[in-house]
Amino acid sequence: MTTTTLSIAVFEGDGIGPEIMGPTLDLLSALSQDARDYRLHFTTVPAGAAHYRDTGVDLSETGLQDAQRADAILLSAMGLPSVRYPDGTEIAPQITLRKALGLFAGVRPVRALPHLCPLRLPEGKSIDFVLIRESTEGLFYSQGNGECSADEARETLRITRAVTEPLCAFAFDLAAQRQPAAGARSGVTCVDKANVFRAFAFFRSLFDAEARRHPHIPHHHAYVDAMALWLVQRPWDFDVLVTENMFGDILSDLGAGLMGGLGVAPSADIGAHHAVFQPCHGSAPDIAGTGVANPTAMLLSAGMMLDWLGTKHGIAELNRDAKRVQLAVDAVLGDPDCLTRDLGGRATTQAVADSVADALRGTVAA
Ligand code: ATP
Repeated sequence: MTTTTLSIAVFEGDGIGPEIMGPTLDLLSALSQDARDYRLHFTTVPAGAAHYRDTGVDLSETGLQDAQRADAILLSAMGLPSVRYPDGTEIAPQITLRKALGLFAGVRPVRALPHLCPLRLPEGKSIDFVLIRESTEGLFYSQGNGECSADEARETLRITRAVTEPLCAFAFDLAAQRQPAAGARSGVTCVDKANVFRAFAFFRSLFDAEARRHPHIPHHHAYVDAMALWLVQRPWDFDVLVTENMFGDILSDLGAGLMGGLGVAPSADIGAHHAVFQPCHGSAPDIAGTGVANPTAMLLSAGMMLDWLGTKHGIAELNRDAKRVQLAVDAVLGDPDCLTRDLGGRATTQAVADSVADALRGTVAA
């Protein structure tokens, strides 16, 4: 097999962004150097709140083109509460990227290590579900265009067939891949508010149509308020959840809570041609510059990138390296001396990243 070179557009971002991206690129570079079948080539793209403050532009046209040309996009976190657009909202080029590149499927894996989970798990149960958050429309559709007078404000929620059909297909395909390991909980749950809003009844009807194409995958419906309750009472019963943008935004933080916090929650925004990989958390300006940011969500997101690239390009070594990253992070999170402050420990960002790199050297994926 020849060696395939893959280009990665890197957004270091704001706040703790560069602090967690640095060690992540070190880890990826080490993997790439040792790999036989692939090489990673990184291009840094300036964007974000500090870039907007300095240049008046949050994401340049050239930056967007660099992202479009890349095989994958790796992003840490962008935005700072102190830097805002003239309408008072925060700088968020990551949302521009989602819309411009059609990244409709926000993939939020929630895999809780028992000792970090705030819930007591019943004997034999584990929390391992994936929340698919639609990421280009829903209530975020009107972002930046809401109407606001002295007495009234309005935002528009939009659900389209063009986005919801591939979104639901994505969810069922994922459930099919997970079915051998998911066991009794296997299936897709549509999370909506179809009892109140027509838009969600429409969303549910498109979900049901997709479900009919997958008779071997169980499917369920849940109202979002009930799902918030069940994710606290019995999260071990769920496999794949699919939902609207705003509902997904909120439930994915609940999912991060089940894992132990935002510092360990990875994510990906995936479309038909492009994908962005970034942690669920923001730029955490309150701890920026102190060296205590937890890098594991970023490292796990980089692992998801390797897995996606491996499947897309048919390079099994990338899928194996993705698994190695996950195993190495899990091993490090099992060591109390390797936990950062958000998880109750005292380790620094660099110390955790170094431990993951060490663990990786001893890890072989099946
Ligand atoms: P956004 O709206 O941009 O997603 P946010 O308002 O959710 O951001 P975050 O920046 O994610 O806020 O931070 C929320 C809290 O979680 C802060 O107290 C922050 O310090 C903490 N936090 C976020 N990421 C990490 C991390 N990687 N390591 C440690 N603490 C973190």
